[in-house]
Amino acid sequence: MPGTRISVPFGHQKAILGIAISESAIEADTSITDLASPSTDTQSRQPKKPTHKLRSIHGTLESSPVLNEELLALCQWCADYYHYPLGDTCQLALPALLRKPVCIPQNKTITWVLNNAGSMTTDTSLRRSPKQQEALALFKRLKNISKDQLKFHEISPATIKTLHQKKLLDKQELSVNLLPLKRKHPLLKEGALQLNPEQKIALERIVFNKFNAYLLDGITGSGKTEVYLQAIHAVLNNNKQALILVPEIGLTPQTAARFKHRFNVPVATLHSGLSNMQRFKIWQAIKHNQYPIVIGTRSSVFSPLNDLGLIVVDEEHDLSYKQQEGVRYSARDVAIVRAQKLNIPLILGSATPALETLQNALSGRYQHLTLRQRAQSQSLPTIKCIETTSSGLGEEAITAIRKTIAQGQQVLVFINRRGYAPTLICQNCKWMCQCEACDNRMTLHRTQSQIHNARQYLHCHRCDYRTAVPNKCPNCNSSHLNFLGTGTQREEEDLEKIFTDIPILRIDRDSTSQKGRLEELFKQINTGKPCILIGTQMLAKGHHFANLGLGIILGIDQSFFSSDFRGAERIGQLLTQVSGRIGRENTRCNGSQVLIQTQFVDHPLLQQLLKQNYYEFAKTLLNERQLTAMPPYEFITVIRCHCTQAQAAQQFLHEARLQAQSIIPAHTNLQYLGPMPAAIEKRANRYHFILQIKSSSRAERQQLLRQLCQRLETSKQPNGLHWLVDVDPQEF
Ligand code: ADP
Ligand code: ZN
Ligand code: ZN
Repeated sequence: MPGTRISVPFGHQKAILGIAISESAIEADTSITDLASPSTDTQSRQPKKPTHKLRSIHGTLESSPVLNEELLALCQWCADYYHYPLGDTCQLALPALLRKPVCIPQNKTITWVLNNAGSMTTDTSLRRSPKQQEALALFKRLKNISKDQLKFHEISPATIKTLHQKKLLDKQELSVNLLPLKRKHPLLKEGALQLNPEQKIALERIVFNKFNAYLLDGITGSGKTEVYLQAIHAVLNNNKQALILVPEIGLTPQTAARFKHRFNVPVATLHSGLSNMQRFKIWQAIKHNQYPIVIGTRSSVFSPLNDLGLIVVDEEHDLSYKQQEGVRYSARDVAIVRAQKLNIPLILGSATPALETLQNALSGRYQHLTLRQRAQSQSLPTIKCIETTSSGLGEEAITAIRKTIAQGQQVLVFINRRGYAPTLICQNCKWMCQCEACDNRMTLHRTQSQIHNARQYLHCHRCDYRTAVPNKCPNCNSSHLNFLGTGTQREEEDLEKIFTDIPILRIDRDSTSQKGRLEELFKQINTGKPCILIGTQMLAKGHHFANLGLGIILGIDQSFFSSDFRGAERIGQLLTQVSGRIGRENTRCNGSQVLIQTQFVDHPLLQQLLKQNYYEFAKTLLNERQLTAMPPYEFITVIRCHCTQAQAAQQFLHEARLQAQSIIPAHTNLQYLGPMPAAIEKRANRYHFILQIKSSSRAERQQLLRQLCQRLETSKQPNGLHWLVDVDPQEF
């Protein structure tokens, strides 16, 4: 059956995993897509070998398909659109345990089921055994009782044994997951909130019985989650299921908790912290309809829900939806396609929609739902720029912190750089510590935040290389080595010196690497007691902390000069999201504020963002994109190549360009750019290059890429050279 896992002989290897995609009546063999050697036969997706060369499969690994028709079709779409072999995209939809050609033992439970003879039996025929009579009466009411439940119903194993011998009961071995889910009533565990007028209009515009993409464009704190919850309620009422994608559950456990608190149904949460076994079990339970609600990160878009009625993509602009390794898919875009194929609604929610999404809403392809007020009529914080050339906290910021703490509120200090200082510099000869494998400045880290006894080391954030801090400059032997710039650790240290009696909580990847540490920190924040939070991006995402009255943003200046055409969009999103954490609930926070420390107070981007809002800002950026023919008005693809030899990578892409040009020559609406170095050119001794293809027609791009990939796959490449296609790249 299509979608079934099979064990397949392959070359000299014993067995590899295959997925049946179709059956042919003439041959005994099943047409398969093999997963271990994905680069062959990618074009046709189905092996076109002459029949006499076909080999028999070893056998199927399960009795039923692991991928149903719907998911198989979705994987096929991914294979076609992103130009990866079907074998690779099928893997996306399977939990890791199922990617090997082995059977997974199932947890079985025995259930006793009343059969026909049993239901025809009258009490009189069991007159002499009241216990059997009682048991039978119970079976007539419940139809089946699992072994674990016998004790609860006070039925002895002996009674069951006799009824079984009398052929009145059948024994069934069911996988634990197959037990039917009994829905509890009422559906709601807690009352829904009374929607405000904007939320009400948004919810009323959602049509549940057909495909539509809705952009829920709501400012931070406008109550988007409440709209999701009530839409999901409608879906559950129809006995359908809902899938909610979030950027990172670990970072925002509150969001998942809100879904669990609202509904009386099991909610599955899929995130990176699960073991392979846990993940497999949840996957299997979802497949057997145990979870009417599934919340998960990127790969959950492929969850095997059988009866989806709604997909929600929260914070749809978030970069984490785009997979940056393996198959370079965008979970947001796959979600749109899945909803479309299922003919169900899809809600994309964000306070800072991606320009692609906004453009679709403005052009009418998506329904545009807007929430422009905060849900509990709190006002947005006032935002002010402070001009400064120093990298650390200035006087004005420190005074503001003092005032906010005195009012009994919390403060957030945002720096998008972890570690102590971005680099070490020699005062004498200006030598800076570089990672040789990456041509990248090494960040200075301290292992403890205590000012005394701090042990320090240098860390390359690209390749993870760590090394000791030199005493002397390796270049000129001077001992005048200094830190340059600031990171979260350094600010933490400075603040600890100034605010000795206030808790200072650092939240970045280093401080939260220990399991459970992040939850601990959140718990402390949620007490609402005055404290100072210092953190990176991790603090910018979707959190709802009630008592934050002041936000301070440091170290954004270099982002104004990003070479990425999306740089402006990103900084607009970041500033809006960080500001959005401030003044969300507590009424004392009215008058909350955000201070941005920058050297470029007059930068036009910053000014526009401050004077207007993200929406107006984004519309201006869209105009620019249209004038410069950039996405979303044109479609970009990059062919990436990396190799230990820069020249080999360049040469490969040079030939790729010639091949592409021979398939479709460049014209006004199809341009080739490169080969050129990738944004991160060197990492761990490998050189990264890209060839960029810009096109105004998706169809033409498809045609080109299809042929180009086929040719590149058969071309000869030097050892150790890797290349891949990145359709709609988010980074260069
Ligand atoms: P968003 O997801 O848009 O940032 P949230 O959904 O987190 O906003 O809502 C912000 C706060 O407003 C939450 O504390 C939420 O409980 C509250 N809220 C949302 N909708 C309403 C409503 N209709 N009435 C009262 N409070 C609401
Ligand atoms: Zn020096
Ligand atoms: Zn490195």
